[in-house]
Amino acid sequence: MIAGPVINGETRLYGILGDPVHSSLSPAMQNAAFAALEINAVYLPFPVHPEKLAQAVVGLAAGGVAGFNLTVPHKIAIQPLLDEITPEARAVGAVNTVRRDDSRLAGANTDGEGFLQALAEELDWAPQGKRVLLLGAGGAARGIAFSLLGAGLHTLIIANRTAARAEALAADCASHFPRCRVETLPMEGLAHSAPHLLVNATSAGMGDGESPVELARLKIGEAVADIVYSPLETPLLAQAARLGLPACNGLGMLLHQGRLAFEYWTGRTAPLEVMRQALMAGLSARG
Ligand code: NAP
Repeated sequence: MIAGPVINGETRLYGILGDPVHSSLSPAMQNAAFAALEINAVYLPFPVHPEKLAQAVVGLAAGGVAGFNLTVPHKIAIQPLLDEITPEARAVGAVNTVRRDDSRLAGANTDGEGFLQALAEELDWAPQGKRVLLLGAGGAARGIAFSLLGAGLHTLIIANRTAARAEALAADCASHFPRCRVETLPMEGLAHSAPHLLVNATSAGMGDGESPVELARLKIGEAVADIVYSPLETPLLAQAARLGLPACNGLGMLLHQGRLAFEYWTGRTAPLEVMRQALMAGLSARG
């Protein structure tokens, strides 16, 4: 029998609130990290219906929760329920990590920074002076857009199925980063966008979904990043492999946003390799 963590009166509670949340890999990753550093804490999935979010947060806080993550669909709705939000997360308009300090709930967003760290680690790619085509304008795309621009990107081109959301994100980006070029393009008009990097931040390609674009029609200068990680090789990444383009999936972003959340909660350096192995084990257990 495998021994679980010892739960006692000192155990700190963490978790992830989502709907659905049953297939989240975060519990495996965060519990492995707590165990590796011998931190007396446990991280649980909490399935929370959107209408019950406020009730769930008040209840968890009253029960002494030490921190939690938010996933779809709570990253935007959580904001008015918090006592403070980092300026970065406030600008992005989404929170994925909450820490309880005394009785105050503080929110941050580690998605965008996690994405940048995955790009650096897996593709040795940095945004300074570069041109990116970003597909999507949802919560994840917003975090990625702000992090890329904050890290010195020259030009950001946003394309989204619903054009109005791309326009709204572009307007927000332009007002926060007036020195950067921010453009929008229709999904069917990407042939001349000529980016160094293409980022898929849409849900297209999840499960047995299709690629959001036909890569051979675009002139990608350097690399492709897909933030979807299930399947590990999305249809977009399969196209990138056929074209010989360097590429990465969303597993690295998941790992690094989790690492940053762990460090925000504990103030300790996260055991990155332990977390990476727990993610891989969680994925292969899914089959
Ligand atoms: P979201 O806020 O619901 O946004 C979804 C985005 O995908 C929107 O831009 C939406 O376009 C677009 N979209 C959905 N279905 C599409 C389709 N069939 N064709 C083209 N576009 C489509 O979700 P999110 O939080 O941004 O998450 C987006 C994806 O990123 C999800 O797959 C999520 O699992 C993944 N993600 C990964 C990580 C990671 O750590 N790797 C972190 C966060 C999210 P419309 O505006 O037209 O609806």
